[in-house]
Formats: sequence, C-alpha cells, structure tokens
Amino acid sequence: MQSVQSVPPEVERFRVEYRKANVGPHYSGWLHFAFTSVGSLAILAFAAMHVHRPSALEWLTVPIAFVFANVCEYFGHKGPMHRPKRGMAILFQRHTREHHHFFTHDAMAYQSSRDFKMVLFPPVMLFFFLGVIATPVATLLFFVASSNVAWLFVIVAMGYFLTYEWLHFVYHLDESSFVGRLPAVKVLRRHHQTHHDKALMGKWNFNITFPISDLIFGTYFHPSPSARAARAANARTSGGSPSTAPDRRG
Ligand SMILES: [Zn+2]
Ligand SMILES: [Zn+2]
Repeated sequence: MQSVQSVPPEVERFRVEYRKANVGPHYSGWLHFAFTSVGSLAILAFAAMHVHRPSALEWLTVPIAFVFANVCEYFGHKGPMHRPKRGMAILFQRHTREHHHFFTHDAMAYQSSRDFKMVLFPPVMLFFFLGVIATPVATLLFFVASSNVAWLFVIVAMGYFLTYEWLHFVYHLDESSFVGRLPAVKVLRRHHQTHHDKALMGKWNFNITFPISDLIFGTYFHPSPSARAARAANARTSGGSPSTAPDRRG
C-alpha cells in the first residue's frame, strides 16, 4: 500500500518520529482493522438476535439514535478532541497533536498498513464504547421504553461506531485506489480533507461520517475550486503546506 501522494518534509519528519516511538514491531494494521470490524459486527449481530417484531413506534429508535449519534460525534470532535478538557487530555493529544500532524490536507494517505494505528481507535475503545456509552443508555431505555428499543439502540450505536471507523479509514486511503475513487468516498473525504487543513481544523467540518450536524450548527465549509487551486500552486512553489482562510461557506 504505497501512497503516490508526496509528503511535505515536516509531515514526513513527524511520521518517522511517531512511528519510531509508537508503532511496535508486532503491530499489524490489518489485524487492528479486523478486530474493530469483527468485534463491532459480532455485537451488532448479537443485538439483532434480541429484536422481536418491533412496532412502528419502536422503529423510530433508529432515526432518532442515528441523529443523536451524529450530534455526539460532532461535539466529541469539536470539544475534547480539539480543545483540551480536564480528564480527557488523551483525546486532544491523540487527535489534534498526533492525528492532525501525521495527516494534513496535502498528505492524507497512509504510507503502509502500519499507519492504520493513527486512524483507527485503539482496540480497547470498542469495550469502552460498549461499556460506558451503549450499555448504560440501552439499560435506561430497557426500563423506560422496551427491550426492542434498547436493542435497536445498541444496533444503531455499534453500527454508527463501525461506520465512523470504516469511513475515516477509507478517507486516509490513497485517493487513486479503487475504494478512494468511489464517488461517495470522494465527496465525504473532501469534507474531512478540508478539516485536516491546520488553519481550518479548529472551526470547520467536525462531522467525520455525514455532515448533518455541521449543516445544523453552521460549521460546514468548503473552499471554492479557485481557492483550492491557488493553495495547491502556492504549496508547489513554496515547497510547504500553506493554508487558506475560509473564503466561502458551502
Ligand atoms: Zn482524519
Ligand atoms: Zn479533527
């Protein structure tokens, strides 16, 4: 999996140092990806087996939980992942200080499967997400609503977690790969790529999956094609990775 994208020297230096300090010799990116995928799908299937002929009202859990998850993704990213908060400093460190320096808008792609570590959540997060978020909410729903509502919530929560992981994973694939060229991936990647511009990351495009909350809360932004072309030309002549200030909100 060799990226054809050229990497600015300061990003390359960060990557070399990061890999040396954080990616052990036994790390396997594909094993990490398989654990996230199979683990999430197993929980999802287990929950699906417990849903029995939901009523129309119970089915409403699905869209409501989906929008709720989108809003949580938005505020989780806009909040602790980009602004250090007491007790959650690890999220700021891993996302703003590491993920955003390892991948920039002009160097988005992995150079090998060992770079998956900088995109996928650590495996333990699957248990954290299940134990600290999905289970307590589902238990509450079990008592205040019904068992179908509780299990449907678990399905949406785990499905959303996996969608987040898979989409973020493919945004950082090589643009010219088969998956990277899929039209839907191109559109969604553009949203995340704009967010990876360090001059824009603190203010725009906080949704990683679908930009619903960005549209609701007025943080949806895409540079005009001319601004993008000017930035690319600027980067070529200076050899660096300059950023443009927002010139148009989408
Ligand atoms: Zn990213
Ligand atoms: Zn970010």
